[in-house]
Amino acid sequence: MTQPHQDSDDLSLEDAKSQWQRLAHEIAVHDEAYYTLDAPTISDEAYDLLRKRLEALEQRFPVLQTRDSPTQKVGVSPSKKGFAKITHDAPMLSLENAFSLDDVWDYFKKAARFLGMSEETFFPLVAEPKIDGLSCALVFENGGLLTASTRGDGETGEDVTAGIKTIPFIPQTLLGPHLPGRIEIRGEVYLSHDDFVRLNQEQEALGARLFANPRNAAAGSLRQLDPSVTAKRPLKFFAYGTSLPLDGCKTHWDVLARLAQWGLPLNPLNILCTSKDEVIAFYKKLEQERSALGYDIDGVVYKINDLALQSRLGTAARAPRFALAHKFSAQKGQTVLRKITLQVGRTGVVTPVAELAPLTLGGVVVSRATLHNHDEIVRKDIREGDTVLIQRAGDVIPQVLGVVPSERPRGDPFVFPSICPICASHLERLPGEAAIRCTGGLVCDAQATLRLRHFVSKAAFDIDGLSIKHLELFYEKGLVRTPADLFTLEERNRFLSPPIESWNGWGPQSARNLFDALNQRRQISLSRFIYALGIPKIGEKTAKILSKHYHTYEMWRAAMSALNLEENNQTLQDLISIDGLGLTAAEELHAFFVEPHNQDVLRALVAQEGGTVFVEADPLKASGSPITGKTVVFTGTLERLSRREAKAQAEGLGANVAGSVSAKTDYVIVGKDAGKKAKEAERLGITILSEEAWITLCQPQG
Ligand SMILES: [Zn+2]
Repeated sequence: MTQPHQDSDDLSLEDAKSQWQRLAHEIAVHDEAYYTLDAPTISDEAYDLLRKRLEALEQRFPVLQTRDSPTQKVGVSPSKKGFAKITHDAPMLSLENAFSLDDVWDYFKKAARFLGMSEETFFPLVAEPKIDGLSCALVFENGGLLTASTRGDGETGEDVTAGIKTIPFIPQTLLGPHLPGRIEIRGEVYLSHDDFVRLNQEQEALGARLFANPRNAAAGSLRQLDPSVTAKRPLKFFAYGTSLPLDGCKTHWDVLARLAQWGLPLNPLNILCTSKDEVIAFYKKLEQERSALGYDIDGVVYKINDLALQSRLGTAARAPRFALAHKFSAQKGQTVLRKITLQVGRTGVVTPVAELAPLTLGGVVVSRATLHNHDEIVRKDIREGDTVLIQRAGDVIPQVLGVVPSERPRGDPFVFPSICPICASHLERLPGEAAIRCTGGLVCDAQATLRLRHFVSKAAFDIDGLSIKHLELFYEKGLVRTPADLFTLEERNRFLSPPIESWNGWGPQSARNLFDALNQRRQISLSRFIYALGIPKIGEKTAKILSKHYHTYEMWRAAMSALNLEENNQTLQDLISIDGLGLTAAEELHAFFVEPHNQDVLRALVAQEGGTVFVEADPLKASGSPITGKTVVFTGTLERLSRREAKAQAEGLGANVAGSVSAKTDYVIVGKDAGKKAKEAERLGITILSEEAWITLCQPQG
């Protein structure tokens, strides 16, 4: 980022222009990352600083304030792909930010002046915790939830109706007095801290991307094209207002009371302040208690309670004059960056870390701070030996905001290492991703337990009786470092002292069970095997596609060894021409197979290469079953089969299992509480089967 404390007083217009351009560009990049990709690249505080700086520049050089300045925009346009757009009943404005109490009083003094009242006037204010979530507008017609959209650019948002309807906290129907025919309710969708941690654990277990914070997890969860994914995410909601005035409500407090009457969830901490002291007390209390709330807030919102005054005040360029967001402060300080080191996460993502000369921020000694990724280091031109500005906000990991200019000679630009500091495998960066990853997934200490967990998981080797705790213990003791070690464990246990069966919590029977479970998996299907390797982007479905295509381990292995990413590579062409496979998957396969450490793992593991596990060829499609070659869709809750079982059974009999109903669907199997898909099937005249009828159909004929 640009130097935050540089004075703009002695700037020429030329310099101001170039500064403005740099800032505006930087803000645009962050906006894109934040709104469109759900992946913020800087902290909110740092972002606000950039914005303040831009505003200050524009105040001093009004000529810079053009229509496309970020200061004139509320957010960015809704993402281009996937979601229909919904225009809000009235624009969803963002709020002006205040960073100190003085800012707050100044703001309401300005409001008083605007109304021709004494500057000393205190307006009764409603104070609400500012939820750090995703603003949404919900339209109800005749009481029923009609549409829901994100804020988007303030005028138009993305249609997230299907996702919103999966949130149990949001009533599908409003009940109660004075309900207008149409009403747009506004509020914040958020994720609690506990649910955020759980979600990231699940993501990690799946090898999927981790969310940076609860807000991004909420946004990423809601902005799913498949609402069944949203339904699995425990999103919550607080309503905070309406787009248009409500009949009979004279104050914002009345509005909130009415929303509650209609059944909408409100934040229980909201209060009406009738004096400055109450405002101060509330802000201080929230700032102290914020970490114990269980969800993220980043400040307090004040709204003038009197709606008549609100309407007289109206809105300025991009924010209402009657409301203000009072942000919590972050702690900042300067220190020397001694060294840049690399930290390898459990998913293999390599994060550069600033090793600092220790400093105290808000009573906590800070000696390390995150540098996020390689791009950030380059963009901020951070070098070892620099004096840097550090920020610590709430529970967030301290971060390096930027370099503090100094006269001292600087070190060389930082060169990002090309091999993993933990396992010496190659580091690689995938096109279009900011993250750099270690490719030694199966051998890298930092990633190994996670990968081993994946290896033994239900859809992979499915090893019964091997808990995560056991796996981690085996790993720590050096007994199981790579997958192949699992299959020599029994052999080695005979020479172990003490042997596993005498360990705390084990006995002869449980050890026997574990070895039996392992032995049962010495034969494994090719698709399970491929999936078990935990190659990024190669999920269950892709593994199945690969296994069908290559049929045997030998064929697959040979093809992968011949794979490179040059355009005329035969294997590459072959791979990307497979239906359901893309270039990203090809890139990941390539990255996995060029890493010699991974080849070692295969050799140690696979019987075909000298290991102990025999990888079976993919069975040719079963024939003679009435469902061979048919396309089927499951919907609703099945009673006798789990979804996974039903799917496996259908595929085993040669059927294609699809996620949605179309004209190509042959059978729709309807469980309990089936919804849209069943209706759609009816509409298209597709054969609908009960679970019983389906099971009968799957029985061997004759
Ligand atoms: Zn590594």
